[in-house]
Amino acid sequence: MNANMYLFFHMFSHVIFGASIMWCCLPRQTWKDIVTTLSFGALCGILPDLFGGRATNPWSHSIFVPPFLALGVAFIAKRIYKTVSFKRVWGTCILAVLIGHLFLDYLGHEIPLLYPFDHVSLRMGAITLGDPIIWVPLLIGVTVGLCKKLKPRLPVFIAILWVILYLSFRITAMEIIYHKVEAQYPVSEKSHIIVEPNTHYEYSFFSRDWLEYRFKIISSHHLRGGYAGILGEKLGTTEWHTFFPTGREIQFIDGIEVPTVNANLFSLFVLEEWTEDGHSFVKGQANNKIYVYKEVRKNQWEEQVK
Ligand SMILES: [Zn+2]
Ligand SMILES: [Zn+2]
Repeated sequence: MNANMYLFFHMFSHVIFGASIMWCCLPRQTWKDIVTTLSFGALCGILPDLFGGRATNPWSHSIFVPPFLALGVAFIAKRIYKTVSFKRVWGTCILAVLIGHLFLDYLGHEIPLLYPFDHVSLRMGAITLGDPIIWVPLLIGVTVGLCKKLKPRLPVFIAILWVILYLSFRITAMEIIYHKVEAQYPVSEKSHIIVEPNTHYEYSFFSRDWLEYRFKIISSHHLRGGYAGILGEKLGTTEWHTFFPTGREIQFIDGIEVPTVNANLFSLFVLEEWTEDGHSFVKGQANNKIYVYKEVRKNQWEEQVK
């Protein structure tokens, strides 16, 4: 699957989530109602992205903006839904923007959620956007709902419930992996752990890769990472570890590591780590040479020359 398909599935997730929320909250007796519900729900689902990217127009992805964004859509929708109160139409539109768009984006990538009070971009990073485990059930729910005369809301409600359960599972899995990483890879200096979806633009539609995580531990002297699997079962299978003998100054901007050192700082590809007489040792490779470093004082390393 290529990058465009990912983007298409990502956008479709917003569309179908927005439409599902609208379907559950507003009446759909006539065909006119049905078309209005689905199209306005879909519109609310992608509304923030229609106002430009979050980088150029950060306000479009702020949690304070949906009531205003949804106002215009609600005004038009109210002209069609004559029997429903404006408050209910507006409230549903806000819900579709908030949950169908902002919540989903926040689970996947950085968004300036608190703009303009705080310009920081926040992200939970629990899912890969475009995940079919989210949009396929919603699509089935709406399709079944369209075919049912009796209780058309039920299949969509069940699909939304499924999505909520699935997202809860993913967030819990992330938390479990975080604690497993913390226990399995103790770091003697101040460190920062990142657990995020193991995203590559290369896995297929039917793949367990959508469920998998990777991890990264960043500290002054170490940078290590690897695959974590669905619940941490892959920890220790595929990983990499870089060691910086002189240490690096680490800065975090919006939760992203920003190295403050020059790119050609000497580093080793770690082969082995051990402790001897209370001292830590690191053996690693750089420029086809093997080096051994010993921690002589806390966070101070010296090369051991034989
Ligand atoms: Zn967006
Ligand atoms: Zn999005």
